[in-house]
Amino acid sequence: NGRVIILGAGHAGGSAAAFLRQYGHAGPILLIGEEPIAPYQRPPLSKAWLKGEADAESLALKPLEFYAAHDIDFRAGVKAISIHRAAKTVSLDDGVSLAYDTLILATGARPISLPVEGADLDGVLSLRTAADAEALKLRLAAGKTLAVVGGGYIGLEVAASARSLGAEVVVIEREERVLARVACTTLSEFFQARHLSKGVRLELNASVAGFVGEQDQIRAVQLADGRQIACDVAVVGVGARPNNELAARAGLECASGVVVDQDARSISDPNIFAIGDVAQRPVPVYERMLRLESVPNALEQAKQAAAAITGRPRPAPECPWQWSDQYDLKLQIAGYALDTDDVVVRGDPDSGAFAVFYLRGDVVRSVAAVNAPPEFMVGKQLVLARTPIDKAKLSDTTVSMKVVAA
Ligand code: FAD
Repeated sequence: NGRVIILGAGHAGGSAAAFLRQYGHAGPILLIGEEPIAPYQRPPLSKAWLKGEADAESLALKPLEFYAAHDIDFRAGVKAISIHRAAKTVSLDDGVSLAYDTLILATGARPISLPVEGADLDGVLSLRTAADAEALKLRLAAGKTLAVVGGGYIGLEVAASARSLGAEVVVIEREERVLARVACTTLSEFFQARHLSKGVRLELNASVAGFVGEQDQIRAVQLADGRQIACDVAVVGVGARPNNELAARAGLECASGVVVDQDARSISDPNIFAIGDVAQRPVPVYERMLRLESVPNALEQAKQAAAAITGRPRPAPECPWQWSDQYDLKLQIAGYALDTDDVVVRGDPDSGAFAVFYLRGDVVRSVAAVNAPPEFMVGKQLVLARTPIDKAKLSDTTVSMKVVAA
């Protein structure tokens, strides 16, 4: 029942504070966040919120009153600048130093920026925070042209939302297809076709060499092949980097994120945990360490840390999953296509509802389901169970997923 300090008031940090109280932690909890607002959900920033279909209040993880009602000392607009492990204190940028018994690092990740000329022009944006989303929304309107750099999930979601606001959209992708890092060709081609049919222009195999401006305002994206893509605003969505500098400076082992165990406890210091986008964690189903960027991962690790801190049994491992919404398409993904050697497509992509299963031998390692909830739900169980399945049945939509899994 000591004093827990949580650094980073995002999805993971806010959830950890709530789980700690739910699991009976009676000691003080301090939740320190650099952003000026209480923990909120980021997924809608590129989807419903950008389209104007969700208000700021609906983004909040919990109503603001929740924190006071549960005796959680939430401080907004304050950044942690150093951790002193020997003294068990944290220094904040407002000059305050705080002592902890247990520290939870939940500092998330930040967008990677492109190291090219013009990247600092007005109108070259990234999307991570509510403030970023507000800045983007203010610039999107019918008649405006948006250049999206990066055809990953966030880039494609922004493209879809911008189209529904009437903006012209060009997606610029370095690889030969969108979602190249995370999906097979069937899925990439399906999403490309949908975006094209909605009027999005795709520039594939196109490398960005810089941004061209006029009076400090972006006017075009400069491609490496010499062409310029005229635009009024650009969003760079080329991945994120963990905010693990604090941890590294304090001597905590960091690989692609702060290295933790199955309780989300750092392997370097038993009094320090790391959760969410900033952590590199064991993923039992794949028997390896991964840094995951998803809401379900943030929640799972918040639970793991809260359970360990309150002396509860370790929660059962979950199957990693995430989702993406574009137009009327709900993509749900269970697991990651790691070490796979086969792909089975169930259903007809032309029907708009289908699923792609990634297998190793006869074992399902991951599923990406488009408007296909049963395939996703059962697929998730299959990934976790690691039991072999009959591929012929899996590809036959007349055989129910229940029977496939039996
Ligand atoms: P964050 O939510 O980023 O929170 C970290 C917080 O820590 C931030 O508020 C940051 O300001 C603060 N911080 C950092 N350093 C300090 C410091 N030194 N001191 C104090 N505070 C600090 N996931 C899905 O599963 N599905 C989706 O559809 C999906 N869509 C997304 C769309 C967008 C546009 C974005 C940006 C992300 C999306 N994600 C999605 C990913 C998901 O939002 C993240 O995985 C999740 O927010 C991670 O939670 P976190 O708490 O680790 O990090």
